[in-house]
Amino acid sequence: MSKITVIIPCFNEEKTIPLFYDEMERVRKKDFKGIEFEYIFVNDGSKDNTLNIVKELSKKDKKVRYISFSRNFGKEAAMLAGLEESSGDYVTLMDADLQDPPAMLREMYDLIKNEDYDAVGTRRVSRKGEPPIRSFFARLFYKIINKMSNIEMVDGARDYRLMSRQVVDSILELGEYNRYSKGLWSFVGFNTKWLEYENVERVAGESKWSFWKLFKYAMEGITAFSTVPLVLSSFIGLFFCFVAFILIIVIIVKTLAFGDPTGGWPSLVCIIFFVSGVQLFSLGVIGQYLSKTYLEVKRRPIYIIKEKN
Ligand code: UDP
Ligand code: MG
Repeated sequence: MSKITVIIPCFNEEKTIPLFYDEMERVRKKDFKGIEFEYIFVNDGSKDNTLNIVKELSKKDKKVRYISFSRNFGKEAAMLAGLEESSGDYVTLMDADLQDPPAMLREMYDLIKNEDYDAVGTRRVSRKGEPPIRSFFARLFYKIINKMSNIEMVDGARDYRLMSRQVVDSILELGEYNRYSKGLWSFVGFNTKWLEYENVERVAGESKWSFWKLFKYAMEGITAFSTVPLVLSSFIGLFFCFVAFILIIVIIVKTLAFGDPTGGWPSLVCIIFFVSGVQLFSLGVIGQYLSKTYLEVKRRPIYIIKEKN
């Protein structure tokens, strides 16, 4: 008999957890007769009643386990904690807000069980219900990162996926501190089937992702899976050296041929501003990588558990 672990990262989800639990139970009873389940709710330092609700559930239902962090460590950390605690032969990650429909799970399970797939991922084909500006930047991000990285990042891919034990164990072997799961999943490889679905809006509560948070997450993805920005800044530097060289020759020739009428202060100031801007930008790029390296080297724990059952 096989066992499925469902991991649910929760950050201030008091409104959605009961709805999620009911829907998940409905699907389990309907589609998964005779298959054992385990639900791991990871409380990522919620400030509301999330932990109590989960504890209540775990008293009522033996399948429910919980892990509670000492503070908010972010969804990546919550997913990792869940994967490390999981004991199922198959593991799935789901958001608490029902944006990842549990009803799709049976189809995913069948694909792994009966066909030659090791993991089934999901991607949303529409971004309906999302602010247009956010969709625009999200699309742009995927275009850029796929140009810069050898690892394929699928546009619209969600964290909702079902994986075999083997895939989970491979992911757990990647001990990096700066975790960008979408990349890690592509990195480990294996046969992955992508299921597409229309975006579903969250049932209650609100999204935890501000534009700024998403921007930082995008930077995380780029620095974790590409070193192209470093190469790019070297190229820009080289290009400016070349331009400077040409300009020097032009000026020397001009001075020898026509004398030297002093002038060109405004243009000089512009050039200084421009070039020092490029220098600072490149330093910033290097700084990004350095800071990531710094965090890796410190080997701090990715999360700290306060309590669990
Ligand atoms: N989440 C988390 N820690 C965080 C932010 C979010 O565990 O710091 C969880 C959240 O509770 C939810 C899932 O990650 O179950 C997705 O979050 P959200 O719905 O806010 O993101 P969106 O669907 O808007 O991308
Ligand atoms: Mg959501």
